[in-house]
Amino acid sequence: MGRPVRDLRISVTDRCNFRCTYCMPKEIFGKDYEFLARDQLLSFEEITRIATAFAAEGVTKIRLTGGEPLLRRGIEALVAMLAAVDGVDDLTLTTNGSLLERKAEALAEAGLSRVTVSLDSMDDTVFMAMNDVGYPVDAVLAGIDAAAEAGLTPVKVNMVVKRGVNEDSIVEVAEHFRHTGHIVRFIEFMDVGTTNGWNMASVVPAAEVVSRISEKFPLEPADPNYQGEVANRWRYVDGAGEIGVISSVTQPFCSDCTRVRLSAEGRLYTCLFAVAGTDLRAAIRNGADDAELHAIITDVWSRRTDRYSEIRSEATKRRPKIEMSYIGG
Ligand code: SAM
Ligand code: SF4
Ligand code: SF4
Repeated sequence: MGRPVRDLRISVTDRCNFRCTYCMPKEIFGKDYEFLARDQLLSFEEITRIATAFAAEGVTKIRLTGGEPLLRRGIEALVAMLAAVDGVDDLTLTTNGSLLERKAEALAEAGLSRVTVSLDSMDDTVFMAMNDVGYPVDAVLAGIDAAAEAGLTPVKVNMVVKRGVNEDSIVEVAEHFRHTGHIVRFIEFMDVGTTNGWNMASVVPAAEVVSRISEKFPLEPADPNYQGEVANRWRYVDGAGEIGVISSVTQPFCSDCTRVRLSAEGRLYTCLFAVAGTDLRAAIRNGADDAELHAIITDVWSRRTDRYSEIRSEATKRRPKIEMSYIGG
């Protein structure tokens, strides 16, 4: 389909200290759940080697994700290694914010460009029910402040919107971050994996998010920053900043999808909704040299035909798919 590869998302752990109901529901990710063992995870050297190979193929953006990436011990060291990779001009990380107050400074010093912090409501009762571990809003806000102070800007704030759960928080979240320079991105609830109980009725369309906010704070469309940008940008008419909406369900953008994903154990996936990946860890640990690694990567990418969001239906949601906490968001 002629799509270039630009954006590499690396999951550094499948573990998380939250149990967001739309991502790692407690009934599945309980005490007995077997997470990856340490030797199954790619080492920082292995991750950097793969990232370097992708940079040579045209990747300019790297995002660290998970699970919760700040739970991976020594993550700052990985950031420093990736910041030194030739061709990577944007190195970011998506986090639930819980360890950000402690780590923002060190991450910035290591060379991280900016962060995205997830926050689904300004209301403690709603937010605690969604993260399902009783984590309060204020602690995430403190993490966002620490990131801004450390210069990890512009901070982006991800809010997943679920019908009947946090739709009443949309305007409040938008209002809180007006005039801050932070950019809230409202994300349609997606059927990633098979455990989060997704159905179409629980999706709040991005168009509705825009109209709800616009009623109180008028918005106008803004041009995309670059081809393949996932969020549609809207700016406040009164100059208070901008928001983004990610309409992966109601307005899919597969034809512009330039993203590739590396799981914590080194499997390569060309779609968030993929069923199977390519085992780069085995290739590396079996002694593949750089030329062989490049050959695998270009072969996988050139054969890619993914367009899941364009063909999504009630039937496709039942396909076996990889969980979000494993593949990374
Ligand atoms: N733990 C980190 C966090 O929550 O920011 C990083 C990993 S998380 C899987 C990455 C992003 O995916 C988060 O912003 C999260 O809200 C979003 N996400 C998780 N499950 C989702 C779903 N089913 N639909 C839409 N977004 C989802
Ligand atoms: Fe953890 Fe992020 Fe998934 Fe929430 S969305 S359970 S914080 S990985
Ligand atoms: Fe890309 Fe797959 Fe998402 Fe389509 S569904 S935009 S191909 S990750």
